[in-house]
Amino acid sequence: MNAEAVSTSEYDVIVVGSGFAGLTAARELAHSGRRVVVLEARDRIGGRTWLDQRMGLPLELGGTWVHWVQPHVWSELRRYGIGLSPSPAPENAYWWDGERAAVGTPSALLELLDRPNELLAARSRNVFPHPFAPLDSEMARSVDEVSLLDHLDRLPLSATERALLESFWTLNFNGRLDDAAYTQALRWIALANGDWKVMFEACATYKIAGGTAALLEAIRRDTAAEFVFGADIRSVSASPEGASVETSDGRSWDAPDVIVTVPLHALHRVSFTPALPPAVADATAAGQLGLGTKIWFTIAGEQRPFVALGAADWPLNFFQSEYAKDGTTFVIGFGRDASVIAPDDRSAIQEILRRLVPDVEVLDSAGHDWVADDFAQETWPMHRRGFLSRSLPALRAGHGAVRFAGSDVAEGWGGFIDGAIESGLTAARDVLSRIDAPREALAATT
Ligand SMILES: Cc1cc2nc3c(=O)[nH]c(=O)nc-3n(C[C@H](O)[C@H](O)[C@H](O)COP(=O)(O)OP(=O)(O)OC[C@H]3O[C@@H](n4cnc5c(N)ncnc54)[C@H](O)[C@@H]3O)c2cc1C
Repeated sequence: MNAEAVSTSEYDVIVVGSGFAGLTAARELAHSGRRVVVLEARDRIGGRTWLDQRMGLPLELGGTWVHWVQPHVWSELRRYGIGLSPSPAPENAYWWDGERAAVGTPSALLELLDRPNELLAARSRNVFPHPFAPLDSEMARSVDEVSLLDHLDRLPLSATERALLESFWTLNFNGRLDDAAYTQALRWIALANGDWKVMFEACATYKIAGGTAALLEAIRRDTAAEFVFGADIRSVSASPEGASVETSDGRSWDAPDVIVTVPLHALHRVSFTPALPPAVADATAAGQLGLGTKIWFTIAGEQRPFVALGAADWPLNFFQSEYAKDGTTFVIGFGRDASVIAPDDRSAIQEILRRLVPDVEVLDSAGHDWVADDFAQETWPMHRRGFLSRSLPALRAGHGAVRFAGSDVAEGWGGFIDGAIESGLTAARDVLSRIDAPREALAATT
């Protein structure tokens, strides 16, 4: 499409972004007979999930693992008849005990992580008795300014337990913990019914058969919406009656309802008229804490499946091997700060892994820098202190005809594919109930 204004009022709803949140919202609205256009800045669907061919294999560069404790993604998999593909069960474990490298079984590492995580998890179901309604919890609001690090400092832990627990939660936050919300950690655990091991299983055990692309394509095929790619939305003008959106190259669309699924950290690129309320603007300016990295690399030899947990402040602090094939092993590494290690820095990756696994030889590597990516600027959204009680309600309230959706604003599994789907369902339902309300009122009087 060229850079000229396009039609107005052809659509009932504009959806900005075609990740899991945008696709789900578009499908629900189109199924209800609404005319929907999805405006996507990239040239592909999927957003922060991206199955791409790298180093000879289709690799998930972003979101990957799902679980049956995540009801929204699980329901989508059932709906489209898509199964699971398990990651290999690790046989060996390596870890940094705070002072030196250790080696043992995965159960031994889990055992070391168990007591500190149980202490952390103890209040999760008190703070979040209904984990999918976090904003209803008075207790959650009362502890939402508590920092996770401060809380860890108060737990009666040995030096090794403290080091391992901090590294484990650095992995989960994919970011620095300095401003991390205690409530965010508790919410994840509460969603797994208070069981941190189930929560961890949900994070890194079962992949979608055929990859995230299989589910994305299934939803897209089921969506009678129009898709426009290369539409980088830079401004949104909203009123109670409707909204218009405009791209960087001057194209514009109008509709009575707009759903914006742009990640919170990238929302500052979009100017809003009228200006966003302070609670939303502040959250957008501060962004999320998931500013880390996920790097794929190959090592020489077909290794038995392993996991490795280093120190929190290492550029990569967690490793998990995924495939052993043709004389090499494919490994994923996670770290808290994308700015300190590039996905193609093989010698740095090798040096870090050798702190735990001697003599390992890194052959190749690949990844995507989500933080440097204009349309993401974050990995998975992990909340700062106060986000849940101050910013989330304001984001969920929307802005005139604009509703916000996305994993960033999910009520349940925020930070996951599940949360993105949940938020897309909610935003579509909100739009439909607004559209349908006058008709229902009319029907009631006749
Ligand atoms: C490295 C990594 C690992 C992860 N691992 C997991 C995991 O194992 N399991 C799990 O459940 N989740 C995981 N996640 C999180 C999960 O991928 C996300 O929570 C989820 O995919 C977000 O979906 P979304 O629709 O909310 O946002 P997105 O997928 O980010 O979609 C937003 C869309 O908006 C578009 N956009 C942005 N700005 C504009 C603009 N100005 N105009 C138009 N379009 C715009 C983007 O291009 C994008 O397509 C991971 C994420 C990352 C990055």
